[in-house]
Amino acid sequence: MNTLSEKVILVTGASRGIGAAVAQKLALAGAKVIVNYAGGKEAADQTVNLITQNGGDAIALQADVSKANEVAAMFDAAITHYGKIDVLVNNAGIMITKLLKDTTDEDFTRQFDINVRGTFNTMREAATKLADNGSIINFSSTTTRVMMPTYGTYVASKAAVEQLTRVFSKEVGARGINVNSVSPGPTNTELFTKGKPQEVIDRLASLSAFNRIGEPEDIAKIVVFLASDDAKWISAQNIGANGAMA
Ligand code: NDP
Repeated sequence: MNTLSEKVILVTGASRGIGAAVAQKLALAGAKVIVNYAGGKEAADQTVNLITQNGGDAIALQADVSKANEVAAMFDAAITHYGKIDVLVNNAGIMITKLLKDTTDEDFTRQFDINVRGTFNTMREAATKLADNGSIINFSSTTTRVMMPTYGTYVASKAAVEQLTRVFSKEVGARGINVNSVSPGPTNTELFTKGKPQEVIDRLASLSAFNRIGEPEDIAKIVVFLASDDAKWISAQNIGANGAMA
């Protein structure tokens, strides 16, 4: 079903992981997709190829979301290419997990620069450049609902994303734009699995009602709905996507 035909959607961090799955599912639903990446050009090109091989329309655009000038240039390039942007998916993010006592100034700055400043930079561009009646989908995390040691700066950054989501929804509502966040639980990507022994992954999987971790596709399906006009009455909400973990 082409619920998203006519829509142009920018997905940050779409070279791999959840963002790549989101980009592909959005394209299957008929959207034209801008696949943003920071350093992974090859992976971003691969995402674009997978979309175009399935008859979809996508381009890859490089921009580090933490850099305001690169984000502005990406918005302008996307609008030059497709004529507009209807939906912004703020998926790009990093996760640094360390005990607070071991967290360096550089860790703190990097965590907040990409997760919070990145979301701020794209939403500031979207405030004037997103089309009327568009949608914004930000990425928080289910970790904001649990209290796990070592996740301090990460959950602090995601809590900030949730608050920006709520306030911004009231600022752009007059243009018909709805703004929500999605909070995945543990999901099978490099961000989650890297460096984790299988027993830790199994223990976290057991916290869901279905005894498994999420797959990127589980999250992508929810983003497709939130990007559609059917979700227009949902705004300023944070949607848990975690199989009843929390
Ligand atoms: P991955 O590490 O698998 O992928 C991250 C993506 O973000 C890559 O495409 C990467 O691009 C991009 N990225 C990183 N830094 C930047 C930057 N500065 N500018 C632009 N793009 C950037 O992560 P996931 O797919 O797992 O995570 C996606 C989102 O979901 C994140 O916001 C994460 O916090 C959130 N999340 C993930 C969970 C999980 O368990 N996986 C759980 C809850 C939330 P490049 O290849 O160019 O580096």
